[in-house]
Amino acid sequence: MSDIDAKNKGVLYVVATPIGNLDDMTPRAIETLREVDLILAEDTRHSGKLLKKFSITSRMKAFHDHNERKISTELIERLKGGEKIALISDAGTPLVSDPGYYLINSAQQEGIRIVPIPGPCALIAALSASGLPSDKFTFHGFLPSRTKARQKKLQELKSETGTQIFYEAPHRLKDTLDDIKDILGSARMACMARELTKRYETIRTGTLIDLTHWLSENPEQCRGEIVLVVEGHHEKHTEEGEDQRVLEVLLEYLPPSQAVAAAVKLTGGKKNQLYRMAQKKSQE
Ligand code: SAM
Repeated sequence: MSDIDAKNKGVLYVVATPIGNLDDMTPRAIETLREVDLILAEDTRHSGKLLKKFSITSRMKAFHDHNERKISTELIERLKGGEKIALISDAGTPLVSDPGYYLINSAQQEGIRIVPIPGPCALIAALSASGLPSDKFTFHGFLPSRTKARQKKLQELKSETGTQIFYEAPHRLKDTLDDIKDILGSARMACMARELTKRYETIRTGTLIDLTHWLSENPEQCRGEIVLVVEGHHEKHTEEGEDQRVLEVLLEYLPPSQAVAAAVKLTGGKKNQLYRMAQKKSQE
């Protein structure tokens, strides 16, 4: 494509918007949305409130999973004709568990300039505050909602060494966290980041057994928007190491005999060995 062609073509902006706190809207996002010919929004009523708050009057068009393919051809024609179009989602960064992949991919193949306007993203906010390793991580979006499929997916992730990140709906949180604990191991560290940037923001990091225990005692924490960040697999999660870590957590809540009995049930570890560990711990 020559420079002249590029100049005559429009621009497709991919604009991140807040994930709760409207003060996270960046000046560049506001300026871009004010200047474009068209804003593509998942839910025009929802985004209408955001646009009103920032006095953005550009036209909006609904763009979601159900019409993305159907309207992309028309949008590409408009971009080729020189229009400037912005894509936003209900919250955060478009394409991150949100629509837009097909459009961006098609526009790129047509040589249209694509400009990201970066900003909030729930997975990055959660990872940055989780206290878990951030040098290597994998984002999985939402796990399958059906139990069997979810458990199968988690089995596949069992030996992944990088930090694993999931989005989850509140009504599935308890079941998902139980599956993660049972399949990836109760001694792994994990972080539940809830309602980020909002009034009831909660960021809790602990072993998976601690988190599930805490959640059952605080059912109100099952509400709102949630990101789960889970430590990757390490040698310390091998059988013996895991037995010990589970026991250590249980000893914080239970007398030694009950902690050992629970640890045997949870890990399938040897009772005598766990008893010796508990005795050693009590002498420390
Ligand atoms: N595109 C968005 C982003 O950049 O994060 C994600 C959209 S996805 C459809 C919605 C999911 O993101 C929610 O179910 C939740 O798991 C996560 N999420 C969005 N906002 C959040 C927040 N304020 N706190 C925690 N999780 C959030």
